[in-house]
Amino acid sequence: MSDKFAIDSHKMSLHPVRVARWLEADDNWERLKKIYPVYVEVSPYGGCNHRCTFCALDYMGYENIGIDFEVLKNSLSDMAAHGVKSVMFAGEGEPLLFKDLDLIVEHCSQVGIDTSITTNFVPLNKKNIERCIENCSWIKVSLNAGTAQSYAAIHQTKELDFERVMNNLAYALEYRRQNKLTCTLGVQMLLLPENRDEAVILAQKVKELGADYLVIKPYSQHNFSETDRYKDIDYSQMLDVEEELKSFNDENFHIVFRANTMKKYVKKEHSYSTCHATPFFWGYIAADGKVFGCSAYLGDERFCYGNIYDNSFSEIWESDKRRESYNFVQKELDIKNCRVNCRMDEVNRYLDRLKNPEAHDNFI
Ligand code: SF4
Repeated sequence: MSDKFAIDSHKMSLHPVRVARWLEADDNWERLKKIYPVYVEVSPYGGCNHRCTFCALDYMGYENIGIDFEVLKNSLSDMAAHGVKSVMFAGEGEPLLFKDLDLIVEHCSQVGIDTSITTNFVPLNKKNIERCIENCSWIKVSLNAGTAQSYAAIHQTKELDFERVMNNLAYALEYRRQNKLTCTLGVQMLLLPENRDEAVILAQKVKELGADYLVIKPYSQHNFSETDRYKDIDYSQMLDVEEELKSFNDENFHIVFRANTMKKYVKKEHSYSTCHATPFFWGYIAADGKVFGCSAYLGDERFCYGNIYDNSFSEIWESDKRRESYNFVQKELDIKNCRVNCRMDEVNRYLDRLKNPEAHDNFI
């Protein structure tokens, strides 16, 4: 299977200067506090038009609040000035419900931040999506079934939404083609017992539409989620789906079957004992403006450094609250309580090897 965007691994090794600064800073907070995230997730809007059965962030309550436009814009300028390289708009709610998301991504382009959107692609406004396609590096559509009936059951919505997403995808792909744009447009399905037999149907449909890839990824139980319906899901029984999908790969369409992550979920263990990614290389801004160091601990004050309504992003990032969080992560956090396969798992494996080299690492 082809994974040219390294979705099933990590890209931290492509940011050697920042990693070297972190490594050389050792435990010196005055130096460490200046290490800004490469990547930040932003939840511009808290509400969602769907209620997916597997939603990890159901506990955040789907509140219909959006970040103030000017506050968000100023934060993004500040983030860019301090070295943030990319922002994914996703989060607790549906990002396309944020009215001026297109103007926000355009602003990101102007200040030098790469952007992406993860969306269910239902609430699409043509004017908005055009500017998003012009500015984003990629847009990934969360589409978790191959038929309208299963889609409605898993997304807990009306069957009509399935058709709407397909039409919206077709529109976006055609707009990209006509305007010779480069935004990658892909689809993601979270593999569940309910959609296992529809992966092939979905692959066929999205390939016909002209999408660039279909990611098949595993579920991972979030420790705070209200739902635990899939907590015992057994991916060892579903790895053969990869074989069924192989034939869809060609030079224009890729299946990214996240077998590496699925196999790790079967083992359910961390290969490192300390998190190095938090509070350095990534961050999260919630729909209420709070800045967190890890998206697996949203709502947990030990990981919250401040609020962009009260302070600038850089003041928050260099604050004492982040220092306290650093000390907590280093000295107290029991990694066994962390979400298995958290977003930074592969990054952490890489950083941990740098902190704890193995015997032959110098024989390059
Ligand atoms: S969930 Fe992952 S990124 Fe977050 S603190 Fe735990 S190991 Fe670090």
